[in-house]
Amino acid sequence: MTARHLHDEPHDEPQDARPEDGTGIRGEDLDVLSRQLGRPVRDVVGIGARCVCGNPLVAVTAPRLSNGIPFPTTYYLSHPVIGAAVSRLEADGVMTAMSARLGEDDELARGHRRAHEAYLAARAAVGERAGTGPVPEIDGVSAGGMPTRVKCLHVLVGHALSAGPGVNPLGDEAIAGIAPWWTAERCSCDGAWDTAGCAPAADLSRHTRTQGLSAEELEAKRAARRRGAAGPDGGSDEKEY
Ligand SMILES: [Zn+2]
Repeated sequence: MTARHLHDEPHDEPQDARPEDGTGIRGEDLDVLSRQLGRPVRDVVGIGARCVCGNPLVAVTAPRLSNGIPFPTTYYLSHPVIGAAVSRLEADGVMTAMSARLGEDDELARGHRRAHEAYLAARAAVGERAGTGPVPEIDGVSAGGMPTRVKCLHVLVGHALSAGPGVNPLGDEAIAGIAPWWTAERCSCDGAWDTAGCAPAADLSRHTRTQGLSAEELEAKRAARRRGAAGPDGGSDEKEY
């Protein structure tokens, strides 16, 4: 269900200044992610998994943010329907039960540790692709409680959706557990987030506020800016450019 055929991506959105950088991010992805999360997304370098309809399910973040902070959680579950369903499992005590089984079931414990190693390897690859450089602060540290515990099912599900079945056994199990509310075969996007108006936006490089304006309106705004932000709107949106 992942879509990583980067060279098949459309290149029909010249207004988007973000380069095609081999991460699989498509034209509307960042807007959709911002709507799904209800806040502007930052430092997203890829899409880990997609709905059958093409919408993002998982945001991929580089191991170091652009502000320099180390970021161990590579795979962030963005889809509200999946997030809410996983929260139900957590509320039902599934994490406690899984953690207990890790202490009793050697095969499961080995699988969980292998998932941890796979997570670290995938994160290193993401960092390499994103040009992050070494992040010694989080060397050997994955997420979600791996390798020996289960502290966040959202992390395990985000990893399992991105890696595909068979890599993160407890993530796979959680995905099976949310089948009453979400399955990979069916789109659950309709009405799952607000699609009206502008997406939450803070990425000032994308000129989102200039889209839809006429040439005259754009020139008026430019003129106001040249006059020193003393335009008819008081220059309050000066920073938008
Ligand atoms: Zn969908």
